[in-house]
Amino acid sequence: MRATLEQGLPALGLGPELIEPLETFSRMLLEKNQVMNLTAITDPRDVAVLHLLDSLALTGLAGLEGRTVVDVGTGAGFPGVPLAIARPSARVTLLDSLGKRVDFLRESCRTLGLDNVECVHGRAEEFAGERRETFDLAVSRAVAALPVLCELCLPLVKVGGAFWAMKSVDTEEEISASKTAVKVLGGRIQAVSDYTIPTTEVVHRVVCIQKTAPTPKKYPRRFALIKKQPL
Ligand code: SAM
Repeated sequence: MRATLEQGLPALGLGPELIEPLETFSRMLLEKNQVMNLTAITDPRDVAVLHLLDSLALTGLAGLEGRTVVDVGTGAGFPGVPLAIARPSARVTLLDSLGKRVDFLRESCRTLGLDNVECVHGRAEEFAGERRETFDLAVSRAVAALPVLCELCLPLVKVGGAFWAMKSVDTEEEISASKTAVKVLGGRIQAVSDYTIPTTEVVHRVVCIQKTAPTPKKYPRRFALIKKQPL
């Protein structure tokens, strides 16, 4: 893991001081993964590449420093925890509907001394009731198809903010299918950027959506409806 991070971090313009906290977090993740389901990725080098460096690839985009960020469906903390480690000036909210995962994140963030992180157990569509349009940025990876994800994430973002959806590269159809949802929810697709995860030839994608207008009050709907009738 260390060698992969030593090689991968400079490629992202990040310093070696991140190695220790990233390794500590990975160790806690793999240890806890023995007793609860946090990740299917169990080889430390794969954790470094597919969880840590993949999450950290977002630091290449402008818009994290000093911002409020919500990671919707963070699971075991990706991309939110590596981003909070790499960008201490960002205030990161880790949101997940599974209480045990949020307990793991609370414990990990305490151990890491990450005081720029808030861990919230809740559903995105309900969280919008209390924190509607209060975040500069929403990020999300591996949670739902883009039309559904937009309804979970865009209501949380301020006008003028953005939503970054981390996706695989075979998502042309998914992106086309999300155009109505993006528009109805007050967004505009600004860029679709493909990136190579450092130290690998794996190419992933981030869909950057700008929030250009307030989301109409009737969204988000109940999850059953969002899923049954995506916009
Ligand atoms: N983002 C992480 C990653 O890339 O490793 C976790 C992905 S995991 C496949 C999806 C996570 O989204 C699960 O932990 C699940 O509990 C959470 N989730 C699904 N729907 C959600 C919702 N409506 N609100 C909050 N969390 C949700």
